[in-house]
Amino acid sequence: MTTEQVAAPISPWQVAQQQFDLAADKLNLDPGLRRVLREPRRELTVHFPVKMDDGSVQVFTGYRVQHNLGRGPAKGGIRYHQDVTLDEVKALAMWMTWKCAVVDLPYGGGKGGVVVDPKKLSRRELEGLTRRYATEISIVIGPERDIPAPDVNTNAQTMAWIMDTYSMHVGYTVPGVVTGKPISLGGSQGRNEATARGAVYCIIEAVRHMGMELPRARVAIQGFGNAGSIAAQLIAAEGASVVAVSDSTGGIHRAEGLDVDRVRAWKREHGTVQGFPGSRDVSNAEVLETDCDILIPAALENQITASNVDRIRARMIAEAANGPTTPDADIRLHERGTFMIPDILCNAGGVTVSYFEWVQDLNRDFWDESEVNKKLKGIMVKAFQDTLAMSTKEEVNMRTAAYLLAVERVASATALRGLYP
Ligand code: NAD
Repeated sequence: MTTEQVAAPISPWQVAQQQFDLAADKLNLDPGLRRVLREPRRELTVHFPVKMDDGSVQVFTGYRVQHNLGRGPAKGGIRYHQDVTLDEVKALAMWMTWKCAVVDLPYGGGKGGVVVDPKKLSRRELEGLTRRYATEISIVIGPERDIPAPDVNTNAQTMAWIMDTYSMHVGYTVPGVVTGKPISLGGSQGRNEATARGAVYCIIEAVRHMGMELPRARVAIQGFGNAGSIAAQLIAAEGASVVAVSDSTGGIHRAEGLDVDRVRAWKREHGTVQGFPGSRDVSNAEVLETDCDILIPAALENQITASNVDRIRARMIAEAANGPTTPDADIRLHERGTFMIPDILCNAGGVTVSYFEWVQDLNRDFWDESEVNKKLKGIMVKAFQDTLAMSTKEEVNMRTAAYLLAVERVASATALRGLYP
């Protein structure tokens, strides 16, 4: 099929299964193991009431999916978005299994979501929704079972409400039930920046591998939330020039580079990056297609597809977001020699520091930020180099290499545990 033809929409879950199949084929995975790992272990759907400010009762739908529990408790974020579907949450849960395995954390993969546009709710309504959703999923979460964290449109406050709700149920404080909490409630130093920091550690390694120079690199970033805006700050601090950024309202471009701190302040004040003085407003598509060296998708899935891949000009793509590239676009990028740092490696810094947070909570022993960042760097650099070595050895792209490492680890744990009963 040519890229000009319109491809049928592919769901994130189909993408996740196709990516897994590629690795399973390459590993010659036992057919039984393949059947087990290809499906989530548990999928919980909940419909729950929330009392709104106008006195009405609204019913919301939420999910919690545990893809695999073979190497430890499930770990994965909770997303609030009007387009959340069970298929999306299943894909995100499976990606978490591989992500935790790539960086070799003792976790399985999970994910949660609520179908809601949180911008339309008051703070009180959001708290009510969060507490009732936490109550509904409390039958499957817990510090030894499944440990949620923030994702799109959820943050440290959301985690504080979930931690409090769970703690009220059991009658004592359980900080280890969620990560990404405020520092004063057992959160970890460095967690807020961890996803972006981990991505930048990978980019530094990749730039070195490609013989590029970061201080000369031009960077475009899609998404200006936790992952995107902090990645912009950190990469600018490395000397790179951030030439374009976008959020859900659109993008901005400045060929000479944007002052990232001022863009962050502008977005805080105006709720959008657009209109930033000295820059040109552009569309979201234009940000992806900007003439740049490094593209960082940091928003949602399915952004680089067969229909726009031939207009992507970056030499390197660092997937801070989960699932931004479809498999057919992936093949084109590889053919063209675009260097890909795949999501399960690139954004694993978030779950890595979440793991540090959980360890600190369980031990009641807290580390300073330099210790967190040092440990994070060690894990990210090793995972990047392991993936690169696998990609060279097996002559596969970086995504397949990361999958080979991850699926092999999970498959071997599953095989060693054997089939119950
Ligand atoms: P966030 O809610 O803080 O930010 C999301 C950003 O994306 C916002 O700026 C929003 O305006 C923007 N956005 C939404 N739709 C867009 C569109 N169509 N075009 C351009 N921008 C758009 O969320 P986040 O935590 O930064 O997560 C972003 C991505 O990173 C997600 O894919 C998430 O799964 C992934 N991720 C986040 C973490 C983490 O620790 N926060 C960890 C791993 C992966």
